[in-house]
Amino acid sequence: MPVFVDIRVYEELNDFLKKDNQKKIFNAAFPVNTSVKDAVESLGIPHTEVDMILVNSIPVPFSYRLKNMDYISVYPVFESFDISGVTKVRAAPLRSYKFIFDVHLGKLSRYMRLLGFDSLYENNFSDPEIIEKAQKEQRIILTCDIELLKNSRVTHGYFVRNRKPKQQLEELFSRFELKSLCRPFTRCSICNTILIQKTKKDVVSYLNLKTKKYYSEFYYCPSCLKVYWKGSHFQNLERFFRTLDV
Ligand SMILES: [Zn+2]
Repeated sequence: MPVFVDIRVYEELNDFLKKDNQKKIFNAAFPVNTSVKDAVESLGIPHTEVDMILVNSIPVPFSYRLKNMDYISVYPVFESFDISGVTKVRAAPLRSYKFIFDVHLGKLSRYMRLLGFDSLYENNFSDPEIIEKAQKEQRIILTCDIELLKNSRVTHGYFVRNRKPKQQLEELFSRFELKSLCRPFTRCSICNTILIQKTKKDVVSYLNLKTKKYYSEFYYCPSCLKVYWKGSHFQNLERFFRTLDV
């Protein structure tokens, strides 16, 4: 006899389901002793996409064995809400990663821009400005200042534990699972604007002789007018990013 269960899948995990089962409770049958992990994956949902499974409103591990008449809720990987144990924020999750960095995280913000992440930073932002911008633009606040995160208006924030930029970067990658979201060298490291690809002809007036001669791929920031090409600076950064333990 199989076990019969009711299942409801949330948010973008519905993309993995067949149409009839999307965004509603549906009934399914599985062999006795099936784990909830195998059940979820048999529906087409990779377990790596799943953050939480409730059975009859109680969180269970992947190894949980289905019982007849269970009601199973499957939730996707949310962004991080943990603020170092100071306070747990459970506002509605943001659905994209946009960050705002506190004033002491300049180097980290630059690395994040170079890796393609929307990263707002000014070295003279005040705490109220950071909070206001975060709210208005739905950004996650990154800071080493716990007091900032204690502010009741902060809904999405993360306390950066490490002090060295490289380790901070590794920390963010692991905390927010950023690896697959990386788009290196697509964003201006100075002003955070998305870069536009240009031909050599378009940018020739910005280039010195050597650059003109040796490079053919160029990117341009329409906001601060900086031109980028894959020269030695780029190669150094690429090498540095390859050393990241992520
Ligand atoms: Zn720029």
